Amino acid sequence: MYHISMVRGDGIGPELADAARIALDRLGAGLEITDVDAGDGALKRTGSALPAGSLEAIRSSDACLKAPVGESAADVIVELRRRLDLYANIRPARSQPGAGGLRDDIDLVIVRENTEDLYTGAEIDLGGAAVALRIVTEAASERIARRACEIAAERGGRRRVTCVHKSNVMRISDGMFASACARVAAGYDVEFEEMYVDACAMNLVRRPEYFDVIVTTNMFGDILSDESSQVAGGLGMAPAANEGDSFAIFEPVHGAAFDIAGTGSANPSSFLLSAAMMCRWLGRRGGDAACSAAGDRLERAVRGTVASGKRTRDIGGDLSTEGFARAVADAL
Ligand code: ATP
Repeated sequence: MYHISMVRGDGIGPELADAARIALDRLGAGLEITDVDAGDGALKRTGSALPAGSLEAIRSSDACLKAPVGESAADVIVELRRRLDLYANIRPARSQPGAGGLRDDIDLVIVRENTEDLYTGAEIDLGGAAVALRIVTEAASERIARRACEIAAERGGRRRVTCVHKSNVMRISDGMFASACARVAAGYDVEFEEMYVDACAMNLVRRPEYFDVIVTTNMFGDILSDESSQVAGGLGMAPAANEGDSFAIFEPVHGAAFDIAGTGSANPSSFLLSAAMMCRWLGRRGGDAACSAAGDRLERAVRGTVASGKRTRDIGGDLSTEGFARAVADAL
């Protein structure tokens, strides 16, 4: 039995969380799910977007499944990443038949450094000028490179790691990132290459099927992963993991989508595919092949349901969030 903390979040979050329970109840992966209060709603109710009790409940669970939160996202997920040292943000983008992506042979993973770069909030207002500090360390660059190489090796196949940076302009910071990645990759059986971020953004549209594993810094990874998920089938299909060495939080790439909240039209695939990543992570961590297999089964059920023509509105169908979750439960 695994104890899972689930943040219901804001906007479409609660609808995704309800839908996930329908499918996860049927999955039979031994998940005991407890709701945890965090986000805009928690801020209104308790004065804190991440109350101490919620942080503790997340910390003491085996893994966390997190729906998107709204305006307080920085106080929730950025804080959780920092406090729990969840340094690897892993964002797979796989073509989904029937979801309207650019091509049907995209299968890549973006491995984004999650703790530093321009996202540490180290900004200075100098009055009429503002400075943001871009922080890159060798230690953080090496550990994200190790995770990217491990993922490339686990995936097998092409085993290609593309290190994305802009060291021709940011010579010192990205120079350090690129050389740390190259150093680490030399110790793995992978094909290592470097690409400037502008070229990568172009190639993700021009030939997305080329990429296998992309490793990059925090902000470039944030932007490129929205692009790659759109190219592969849209934000509604895009899962992500925030992994540390002993804990992980799984959440969709997208935000709270307030424009469609309460309409019952959100696509819960991103959340269900995040849950599938969580089952595989729990299985890998605990040597529990049955839990990993449950993750594979859930992913097949989600993808198979979409491919069979049962879809939500964002990808051309007419099912509600709950209707889609029930179709996935039937497929399971
Ligand atoms: P953030 O900055 O927190 O990432 P955002 O305001 O940029 O959030 P998102 O919430 O990520 O935007 O989503 C952008 C748009 O994509 C939404 O307004 C919504 O229309 C659509 N969208 C996102 N997620 C889904 C989903 N699961 N199902 C259907 N449509 C979605």
